[in-house]
Amino acid sequence: MSIDAPLPSSPRLMVDLDAVRSNYLLMAARANNAATGAAVKADAYGLGLEKIAPVLAKAGCNSFFCAHVSEGMIARQVLGYDVEIFILNGVQFGEVPLLRQKHLIPVLSTSEHIALWREDGENAPAALHVDTGMNRLGLPWHEGVPDMVKGLNLTLVMSHLACGSDPAHPMNQQQLERFAVIKAAFAGMRASLANSAGILLGEAWHHDLTRPGIALYGGAPLDEGGPNLAPVAHIEAPVLQVISLRQGQSVGYGADFTAPKDMMVATVAIGYADGLRRDASPGGFGRIHDQKVPLIGRVSMDLSTFDVSDLTKPPKPGDLLCLLGKDLQALAIASDTLSYEILTGLGPRFVREYKGCGS
Ligand SMILES: *Cc1c(COP(=O)(O)O)cnc(C)c1O
Repeated sequence: MSIDAPLPSSPRLMVDLDAVRSNYLLMAARANNAATGAAVKADAYGLGLEKIAPVLAKAGCNSFFCAHVSEGMIARQVLGYDVEIFILNGVQFGEVPLLRQKHLIPVLSTSEHIALWREDGENAPAALHVDTGMNRLGLPWHEGVPDMVKGLNLTLVMSHLACGSDPAHPMNQQQLERFAVIKAAFAGMRASLANSAGILLGEAWHHDLTRPGIALYGGAPLDEGGPNLAPVAHIEAPVLQVISLRQGQSVGYGADFTAPKDMMVATVAIGYADGLRRDASPGGFGRIHDQKVPLIGRVSMDLSTFDVSDLTKPPKPGDLLCLLGKDLQALAIASDTLSYEILTGLGPRFVREYKGCGS
């Protein structure tokens, strides 16, 4: 049986497309003369590639970064053929015809990628990822690299920063210096080094094309400080029950939380299946009537419990608890993780709504 209208018992995820647009324009302004691309991998950080990518294209983005070929195919279908789409994870055996057919640009990062793309013989455009110290993905740099890729139709040379979120980290400068050597070996080719954090490090890191992701989705690129980005993801989940607790009574699995005083607890229809992490409690919080309510007790699969004792007006079943929004970073810190993991971990059960940008 299919359900036509979203039922009020479902948690909702509202994605603010106007906020995505304004964050893109803010990062583009910070990137000075560099072109501003967009990382839309992992379904635009869990928020919906099909809705978000066209908003970015309309705001002026011509270069999109996906991780997988499957993501690139969706991006191509949504965006048409006027933009370039890069596949950050490169190319695997069997994918070459599809990449070529969809005009997807593989980011060649290993000698295997280079061999596969060369074998094809069509010489369609490719990008080259050279490692500058992160040691994750990317061709280790040596003087022979330009020879390895001789004859290929390269359109971009790139590298990735390991420590951009900490502007004081010495690796930022080291990677910049190593990238300068690589750039010199590929004189005249477009170069790209900066993700969101890299844009904020300063003009020296911008080069020709930037690749912001998290900033577009309202997540903080830096460990501390940084520009005021517009919140993009807003969760609303209904209160199901409000319970009065006597001092000494406990809440939830494991009876982990014991009431230090008489209190009121609201049980809300959101749990770890929706991406509210178990380690968000204690320390995490939501908002009811825009007042903060602490998360208490263990988060379970479909439910979580909040201390609503201090609300000026006690909530009733059906009232909405808000999560994320401007509190995304605070929830990430309380959950001992990053906004990236919170956004990409949002579960499949949300009713997803998109607001703004003509949607
Ligand atoms: C994910 C990713 C980005 C985007 O990074 P943010 O920190 O989200 O801005 C840029 N470049 C590469 C290679 C990536 O993997």
